[in-house]
Amino acid sequence: MSDVETDTLDIAIVGGGISGLAAAWKIHEIAPELTVRLYEREHRVGGVLETIHHDGFLIERSADMFITDLPWAINLCHRLGIQDELLSSNPTERRAHVICRGKLIPIPSGFQIMGPTRAWPVLISPILSLKGKCRLICERFVRRRPPGASEESFSQFSIRRFGREVFERLIQPLVGGIYTADPDKLSVAAALPRFIEMEQKYGSISRGLFATKEADQDQAESDSGARYSLFVAPRLGNEQFVSTIASRLPKGVVQKETSIVGIARGEDSLWRLKRANGKEVVCRKLILAIPAHQAAELLLPFDPALAGELEAIVYAGCAVVCLGIAQQQFRVPPGGFGFVVPAVENRRILAISFSSNKFRGRAPEGQYLVRVFFGGACQSEMMERSDSELIEIAIEELKELLQMTGLPTTQKIVRWPNAMPQYHVGHNARVERIENRVAEIENLALIGNAYHGVGIPQCIHTAENAVERLLGKSSSTTVR
Ligand SMILES: Cc1cc2nc3c(=O)[nH]c(=O)nc-3n(C[C@H](O)[C@H](O)[C@H](O)COP(=O)(O)OP(=O)(O)OC[C@H]3O[C@@H](n4cnc5c(N)ncnc54)[C@H](O)[C@@H]3O)c2cc1C
Repeated sequence: MSDVETDTLDIAIVGGGISGLAAAWKIHEIAPELTVRLYEREHRVGGVLETIHHDGFLIERSADMFITDLPWAINLCHRLGIQDELLSSNPTERRAHVICRGKLIPIPSGFQIMGPTRAWPVLISPILSLKGKCRLICERFVRRRPPGASEESFSQFSIRRFGREVFERLIQPLVGGIYTADPDKLSVAAALPRFIEMEQKYGSISRGLFATKEADQDQAESDSGARYSLFVAPRLGNEQFVSTIASRLPKGVVQKETSIVGIARGEDSLWRLKRANGKEVVCRKLILAIPAHQAAELLLPFDPALAGELEAIVYAGCAVVCLGIAQQQFRVPPGGFGFVVPAVENRRILAISFSSNKFRGRAPEGQYLVRVFFGGACQSEMMERSDSELIEIAIEELKELLQMTGLPTTQKIVRWPNAMPQYHVGHNARVERIENRVAEIENLALIGNAYHGVGIPQCIHTAENAVERLLGKSSSTTVR
């Protein structure tokens, strides 16, 4: 018999990434009387969100910003009182480039992931051939699919609407850079449903984007790539976000270095969590805020069918080489937020981000902070390379593409094996089956980036919804 560690808890949360922390904070806001513990196996909370300070650089190990038009992350910052600590992305550098036949070319101003909000910049850009441009213009006349038609992958959807060249040269690299996904498998309905809504509502993506631009002149006019004007970051990095939540939770809620290795449920309907040290935690309600494949492992003895659905959500990995480089090492200073690399260019990198151009305070005076991304679903073999090989490739690419000279002043490599859930075709239906099954099991919730969006705001939203459902309360904590 294992020792029972505490009195029966009202709620246990497994996983201390942003999802688990957001859930804990929501419970604290709407039901502070409940006894809650959040169990995190590492020595720190935050999960993939971690900021390191190295040689005067502020380096994000994963996410370096979050979007504000999905309100849930910014709302949480307001409720925590850290809204004044948020930096807007640097307005003078809000643009991105794409590699085109070995050269960096600006993504046409107003081109946003899937299509243009302005015609002229695309028409004068050298990225597309005349034929590609004509096909792009014709997108307006491509008939919309009947509602209820079978689900399309990202490549099927974008090639049908815009033609292969626009897909290969612009859409694929932008989507690949954001989702680290294989566009032949990525579901548009799950990853970017707003484009399906645009097709249905306006009959065309171009028309939908132009109409949305009318409604939001400021952001759509200038941005290219990923709507950068909508992004913010905490002044001290995302660590500031997660550590603020953890430090404001009542003492004892966060239990670090505590791995949960098994789950069972007794006839009394209480959950019994097994800790790695053999001790047992008993709780009434359980929130699993961990990746789907890890939730599957824990739930396997309890519900093999549910575990099978969770296990079927595939994850991809990536590696990020972070380099500090002196300004004089670049003949032409790198402009914009970075660049993405189309698969048709056959290079070894996915994208490069100029972190110090995005937000102030990321690099010491006279230096750039550059992050080079490898791997993803389409170049998973790059994850097999050693750290020194990846750093060497990153430097070679910077020398070739940006005429960098010499060696970086600082270097760090971060690896994220199996960190990015892939929303393959069929994802929404799978999530619905998972949620239907979870709804039948009393007092259980699954949250995290595997279900309704990988971004920080979506993780927070999923967590807050789950808490409201478990507690049977809706809250008035929304500030926007
Ligand atoms: C390289 C990269 C770049 C990204 N860039 C952006 C970006 O710019 N903007 C954006 O919005 N999003 C970005 N994302 C996505 C976003 O950061 C993540 O989706 C989100 O932070 C995931 O949070 P989570 O809490 O769901 O999961 P995680 O952060 O994975 O947290 C899960 C936690 O559970 C713990 N755990 C697991 N199993 C157990 C167990 N058995 N017992 C106890 N603890 C356990 C883990 O240690 C971990 O701390 C990026 C992600 C990556 C990897």
